[in-house]
Amino acid sequence: MSISSFVQEDIDEPPSLATLPTDSATTVQNSNSFPVSQLSHQFRSIHFPMATDEQWNDWKWQVRNSFTSFESLEQILTLTDEEKGFKEQALNLPVRITPYYASLFAYKESLYPLRKTMVPVLDELVITPGEQSDPLHEEADAPVPLIVHRYPDRALLLVTGFCSAFCRYCTRSHMVSKKDKMHAGTVQIKQALEYIRQHTEIRDVIISGGDPLTLSDERIEFLLSSLRAIEHVEIIRIGTKVPAVLPMRITDKLLSILKKYHPLFMSLHFTHPDEMTPESHEACCRLADAGIPLGSQTVLLKGINDDVSVYRKLTHELLKARVKPYYLYQCDPIPGSAHFRTPVEKGIEMIEQLRGFTSGYAIPHYVIDAPGGGGKIPLLPEYYQGKENGQVVLKNYEGKLFYYPDKE
Ligand SMILES: *Cc1c(COP(=O)(O)O)cnc(C)c1O
Repeated sequence: MSISSFVQEDIDEPPSLATLPTDSATTVQNSNSFPVSQLSHQFRSIHFPMATDEQWNDWKWQVRNSFTSFESLEQILTLTDEEKGFKEQALNLPVRITPYYASLFAYKESLYPLRKTMVPVLDELVITPGEQSDPLHEEADAPVPLIVHRYPDRALLLVTGFCSAFCRYCTRSHMVSKKDKMHAGTVQIKQALEYIRQHTEIRDVIISGGDPLTLSDERIEFLLSSLRAIEHVEIIRIGTKVPAVLPMRITDKLLSILKKYHPLFMSLHFTHPDEMTPESHEACCRLADAGIPLGSQTVLLKGINDDVSVYRKLTHELLKARVKPYYLYQCDPIPGSAHFRTPVEKGIEMIEQLRGFTSGYAIPHYVIDAPGGGGKIPLLPEYYQGKENGQVVLKNYEGKLFYYPDKE
């Protein structure tokens, strides 16, 4: 069965459609209480001179005013030939960038990391051996639509194909954002919940997508309360990039909902230290203050965060915002991803250069999500060097050898 057969149904229209409130009807949320960084302020005064603080800080305004075409990107960037090349081509994964996130790279050169994660380049057309559109074989692990049940005690619940910003290296680019694959319909959601209800071994549900925090507050509350009502579901997790690309989504109203369904964990997607703006920092701190343990999942990306000093800075910025670096992922081999992928040795080297040199809390698990549905497989530098005369030989972070008297 397909996990990605989202259909449009009653409750939720995707926020990109005309059902959103018009500007005049926009509700004012946390006006003045959200910081606006210098870059964003400057960008807004040039490109959205009519927008008020209230509008800029309204997440629905951000979604409605997102950049979704080359024509609109040309208004804010001098596109290179590599970027412009796509103008006439059909994109596998559409462009979608919030004005907030665009403001972080609008005045930067084409090789600037945040720009590279969002603006497509012709390299996306280069398909190299081994690349697949669903490398993790999630479709095969979908017993009913919207559920991926690969591990014994936990399952993914993919509630939407919509994100407020599309990362060019997205592992689910085959299922996100297709017209008929936006927010999942009620019938499918209820079916998926029923599957979880019947599978009493599932003690951990990860709500993902797409980005679940692009759903309405009401829909999020419906999902959380339905899951909480299932006795064997011990913990609930939400996977989201919203704190990095749409931080103003973390409203008081949303927090008051999230707080009711503890234990609730969140996996955030951060890629580069420059994403940790005053806005994103505030969003993370609000979530942490709501009692939500925060982890970050980062994809290792060539020319973006594959320099250990850049990645270390990211881990430090995350910890300052009370986010624990959780996973560092080897980039999945989706079609056209070669320009993003690093050799596997690179990831091992990154871990080697972190362990011992910075807080243990800053060190993620480096994993490859095995193509073909093998799940996450951790990779470590070779600290364990084998056994000698009943002693375990260990290599420390400085490369020195130590011996541990092992028990028989
Ligand atoms: C990553 C993932 C999980 C969660 O894995 P953890 O190691 O528990 O964070 C669950 N199911 C699938 C299919 C996954 O890809």
